[in-house]
Amino acid sequence: MAHARIVVVGAGVAGLTTALLLAKESRYQITVAAKHMPGDYDIEYASPWAGANYWPISEAGTEAAEWDETTWPELEDLARHHPEAGVHFQETAIYNRTKDVDSKLGRYLAEKLKAEPWYKDVVPNFRQLSREQLGTQYSNGHAFTSVCINTAIYLPWLASQCLLKGVVFKRANLKHVRDAPGIHHTGQKADLVVNCTGLSSLKLGGVEDQNMMPIRGQTVLVRNEANIMCSSSGTDDGEEEVCYLMQRAAGGGTLLGGSYQRGNWDSQLDPNLAIRIMKRAVELCPALTDGKGIEHLDIIRHGVGLRPYRQGGTRIEKERIDGVWTVHNYGHGGFGYQASYGCAKKAVKLVGEVLTPRSSL
Ligand code: FAD
Repeated sequence: MAHARIVVVGAGVAGLTTALLLAKESRYQITVAAKHMPGDYDIEYASPWAGANYWPISEAGTEAAEWDETTWPELEDLARHHPEAGVHFQETAIYNRTKDVDSKLGRYLAEKLKAEPWYKDVVPNFRQLSREQLGTQYSNGHAFTSVCINTAIYLPWLASQCLLKGVVFKRANLKHVRDAPGIHHTGQKADLVVNCTGLSSLKLGGVEDQNMMPIRGQTVLVRNEANIMCSSSGTDDGEEEVCYLMQRAAGGGTLLGGSYQRGNWDSQLDPNLAIRIMKRAVELCPALTDGKGIEHLDIIRHGVGLRPYRQGGTRIEKERIDGVWTVHNYGHGGFGYQASYGCAKKAVKLVGEVLTPRSSL
């Protein structure tokens, strides 16, 4: 049987997960073409900067919530059976303040601020935090078992799983979607393109999606470990700042965050914000420094990443652009990992609708 040729543009978590699921179907010959690959750190490449963990913020009853729900068992399976993927289970506690419910950020993270978010029936060991555990500062909170992903291990792992299935990786910096079919590794024109270019979908010719914008996230990665993941719904340092921390799997350090700075493209570190992030983290989790100050944090590196936010929600659609069938999978904001399998499955379904076995012959 003739194979259908596909070029997946993008090697972030969206492109790699989509390529991997496509590669499980033997009828596709797949090239992943990208400007940035696992191992790179760049402001145009969101995936390495993520925590990354599973803390759904999708609204109950939406398709986005379905994508998150579909992704949980996949991440759970990786944590349980595939230690080499760099995903581990971690106890998590979420602390909420009533005053954050109506803030800009509170509205973006609304599901997490609820006492009973929809994911209570999905994640294991969901329970309410007691008044004693909440202290005087927080109005409600919950705990559950989640996962934390070491992105420095997980992205190369995804790439290696693709390689095992015959996917070919090529560096490319495309100006227009119509240029993608011509870079298929066979030398023959591809039948279909999958667009997983994240925030760059704002500028990529043929896409130029004006609904895309960055939500800047600044972080500090430290060697200190407290073996817990936790977050508070807001801070008193401004509407765009939050406090969260998580310990990455397999010696990946603890990531302290953060910020949600909408429309902010700045790739440079804000040193004052870095100090506020560290102060809030040791306050929320004194065990990090045995109750001591931020001078007892052992810094590995500071980070700045741009979450690929899309007004109107993630775009997973098929479209014919200049005669090229294109399936889009971009605009995952701050949830690209926790929705990755759900989104990739939908993209694979759309690919299947275009490349029916008949049309691929
Ligand atoms: P990207 O990772 O940006 O990849 C885009 C790819 O497209 C790259 O390979 C790039 O080179 C390529 N590309 C772009 N343009 C072109 C072009 N013209 N030609 C060729 N190649 C091109 N998500 C979670 O689920 N959980 C978390 O805990 C979490 N924490 C986060 C914390 C921070 C600080 C940040 C910044 C993000 C966080 N996220 C989290 C969000 C998550 O990182 C993103 O949603 C996700 O990485 C987006 O992946 P992507 O593959 O769509 O985009």
